[in-house]
Amino acid sequence: MKNEDLVEELIRQKYITSERVKQAFLSVDRKFFVPKDVKSRAYYDDPLPIGYNQTISSPSIVATMLELLDVNEGDKVLEVGTGSGYNACLLAAMGRVVYTVERVPQLRDFARKNMENCRFHDKIMLILGDGSVGYGVEAPFDKIMVTCGAPEIPKPLVEQLSPGGRMVIPVGSTFFQELYIVEKRDDGIYRKIWGDVAFVPMIGKHGHRWA
Ligand code: SAM
Repeated sequence: MKNEDLVEELIRQKYITSERVKQAFLSVDRKFFVPKDVKSRAYYDDPLPIGYNQTISSPSIVATMLELLDVNEGDKVLEVGTGSGYNACLLAAMGRVVYTVERVPQLRDFARKNMENCRFHDKIMLILGDGSVGYGVEAPFDKIMVTCGAPEIPKPLVEQLSPGGRMVIPVGSTFFQELYIVEKRDDGIYRKIWGDVAFVPMIGKHGHRWA
């Protein structure tokens, strides 16, 4: 199997529906973002362990979230939960610049190394810290993608969204969440629920409190 086979399957199953997301998936090879012991499963539609009780999400949910987020080439993007760096590279393939925040130092290092294989890595700023408070020094962001489950929508993330901006975020318990699409419009903040998802918990000031 190769990366193109994964992309073809994601299109066949209608997880990828836009040319933009398709091109991003074709230009970022998932095998560079999974640990050695699970490389043989890089092109399966499965979440895979990346150490420290964390995972690289399944390609189908990554594709779904990217389609919902609708990243354009001028967009300044914030990602909370760098993990392997895979999603940050996909975002960088579509947007102008990506700020991605990870709380586990070893995963920050893992992502940095993996991103060397990504031709968009110059567009990515990798930050070690608590992404539940966002990244105020670079706010506002046109798009925010959260890849860990928050107990509720963190206020700072809403504040750091540009007018007209959009955020995709799993909200719920430490095991199961609903995927929210949050939009900041002139007349207020709008929320829509896409459906059920299962992400590792967001740990931090506006996340869950246990590690
Ligand atoms: N987007 C990642 C990828 O492409 O591999 C997968 C992310 S993994 C499902 C969730 C990540 O969120 C984990 O690496 C975890 O350490 C991180 N995380 C959890 N709480 C966080 C927080 N408050 N700030 C930043 N990262 C956090």
